[in-house]
Amino acid sequence: MRPNILTPLFASAAGLPGIGPKTGKLLDRLLGPDNAPARIVDLLFHLPHSVIDRRNQPKIADAPIDQVVTLKARVAEHRAPPPRSRAPFKVLVEDETGDVTLVFFLANHAWIEKSLPLGAERWISGKLELYDGHRQMVHPDRVVDAEGFATMPLIEPVYGLTEGLYPRVLAKAIAGALAKLPVLPDWLEGLRLPLPHLPSFSQALTAVHHPGTPKDIEPDSPARARLALDELLAHQIALALMRERLRIRVGRPQVSAHRVASQIEAALPFALTAAQQAALAEIRADLAAPHRMLRLLQGDVGSGKTLVAFLAMADVVEGGRQAALMAPTEILARQHFAGLQPRAEAAGMIMALLTGRDKAAERARTLEGLRNGTIQIVIGTHALIQDNVAFRDLGLVVVDEQHRFGVHQRLALSDKGEAADILVMTATPIPRTLVLSYFGDMDVSALREKPPGRQPIDTRALPLERLDDVIARLGKAIETGARAYWVCPLVAENEEIDAAAAQERFEMLKMFFGEQVGLIHGQMKGPDKDAAMAAFAAGQTRVLVATTVIEVGVDVPEATIIVIEHAERFGLSQIHQLRGRVGRGKGASVCLLLYKAPLGDVAKARIEILRQTEDGFLIAEEDLKLRGEGEVLGTRQSGTPGFKLASLDVHGGLLPLARDAAQKIVADRSKLDGPSGEAIRVLLHLFEREEAIRLIEAG
Ligand code: ADP
Ligand code: MG
Repeated sequence: MRPNILTPLFASAAGLPGIGPKTGKLLDRLLGPDNAPARIVDLLFHLPHSVIDRRNQPKIADAPIDQVVTLKARVAEHRAPPPRSRAPFKVLVEDETGDVTLVFFLANHAWIEKSLPLGAERWISGKLELYDGHRQMVHPDRVVDAEGFATMPLIEPVYGLTEGLYPRVLAKAIAGALAKLPVLPDWLEGLRLPLPHLPSFSQALTAVHHPGTPKDIEPDSPARARLALDELLAHQIALALMRERLRIRVGRPQVSAHRVASQIEAALPFALTAAQQAALAEIRADLAAPHRMLRLLQGDVGSGKTLVAFLAMADVVEGGRQAALMAPTEILARQHFAGLQPRAEAAGMIMALLTGRDKAAERARTLEGLRNGTIQIVIGTHALIQDNVAFRDLGLVVVDEQHRFGVHQRLALSDKGEAADILVMTATPIPRTLVLSYFGDMDVSALREKPPGRQPIDTRALPLERLDDVIARLGKAIETGARAYWVCPLVAENEEIDAAAAQERFEMLKMFFGEQVGLIHGQMKGPDKDAAMAAFAAGQTRVLVATTVIEVGVDVPEATIIVIEHAERFGLSQIHQLRGRVGRGKGASVCLLLYKAPLGDVAKARIEILRQTEDGFLIAEEDLKLRGEGEVLGTRQSGTPGFKLASLDVHGGLLPLARDAAQKIVADRSKLDGPSGEAIRVLLHLFEREEAIRLIEAG
């Protein structure tokens, strides 16, 4: 239950005085969480991105041109345009040093008479310009009398808007929200953080929405630091509680002589890389230890993570327990299964596939096999975490492409085993700062080295206008037997619309290449997707038009060309993932990035990075620098916490503090009782970490 003190903050924003139904809808569109109505707290957490500084109040003669100034002047003259003229209404105002013409297009004459009566003294704020050698101000932002000036903020916050929502309406709504902010207990009290004095949560919110100086809203201001720290702390406490829950039930040491794994290894046509051996050794040490493993296996596309995980699974099976691998998509689950099943069989292990698409009888058989333990390894999708899936003794859970799954899904699968060890694989190379923030303190193994013999990928960027050239070159290439992916842009964050774009490109390429073109997208039925993949893998189709469903893991070594349309719309790491679909076989590979010209500086820099390096870790770090943390993991993917107040490139330094504090709080249960515990509950509710509250209550 949410503490009563927070009730006003979670009330609908539409209930604020002065917000009509129309504005209410606009606020929902701008700020509502997951299409739900916007709440007061959403308004409060919508921070200004800049300010307009109206503090400069010079005499007219000294006023700088092309800057915002606030002038105190007397209204000297009204110059109304002739009737039915499109000319502007002009008002001349003056002080003892000079005059300025105020210019109003399509003016409401009554408003001018009322706001700027002849002879009156007014404060006028806006950008001063020079026109024909004369000072003028077109549509001043503010025209107020002495009374209005007394309450006019001289530093005005500027907020992100949505179409139809006016800045002043939003500012008023936010001011209304701020007035509802209750006095909250201070959750930082008693934590003794090694930080200079910070404002309280409500002081900090007030400072960013009613800034006293432009510095107040800068990301490194004490106010912003306080808000970021609060958000990070809430997240870290939630992570620490989950980790504690995983650890509370001590792990079971898993013993294995690695005989099965050695047998699999000996049958491989290649040797493990040093990085793979090191990662496997780390995992084996965790498995053998009495604590529960919670390890992230990071590695670039094709770096050989799956194989490492598979060898660990073999150890667990040899020790008499079961292992499960959960993949984010049907395609990937099937592909993992197809790749690993023969190896498992050769080593005498029984492996099954479980997805949402299995036939009833087959599914019943699989469920029975998992329950009685005859199935030793299962590979599947979300279907694995359904209630009716039970294991005889699940010892190891491997979660592939983790950031697509929420924390609770990870927990749900591991809960099916008694103290199951957890290995999370991610092909998105996550910078260190992000590992901490997104996953909490997991142990990390990284595969930074690629298996030998991979060909570098020749990456080139071309404007979309050269589509004809690209198609012509593609035609030549497929005549000589090449295979190509053609990735269609993310038009909208909407699968249906993306699918339509892919369909259109498919029809067009068919006019050139006929039956050699295939299509795959997220809206197709499972069997159709499989058929499209299979036809491409077998070489029946040579060009596969796709949406980002091919992003992760799909493996056709013969494909040597990838065309990515509207590359400027993808995140860098996402392009890197896509590019990893080629360069997997013997042939030299090409990646063509088609972009819409002209490119901005950031977009240019991003494409240049992709051309220069294939090191996914480096790319992710650069992406973080250029675009901020949301893009690295892709905000459209679920399971990322998506910070509202913290910006990791600025506040990353606060993470270790937040983590240490969170660990202390969770380790010392008494901190969760009494007034300090109350304050921490308020914090967790404020940032909607309800899952953590449940863990406190259960623990
Ligand atoms: P990831 O899961 O990191 O994307 P995989 O484990 O699927 O990578 O490996 C990608 C491909 O490389 C697979 O075809 C796999 O058999 C192969 N591979 C894995 N390890 C090696 C290695 N040490 N040497 C050569 N090829 C390897
Ligand atoms: Mg993989």
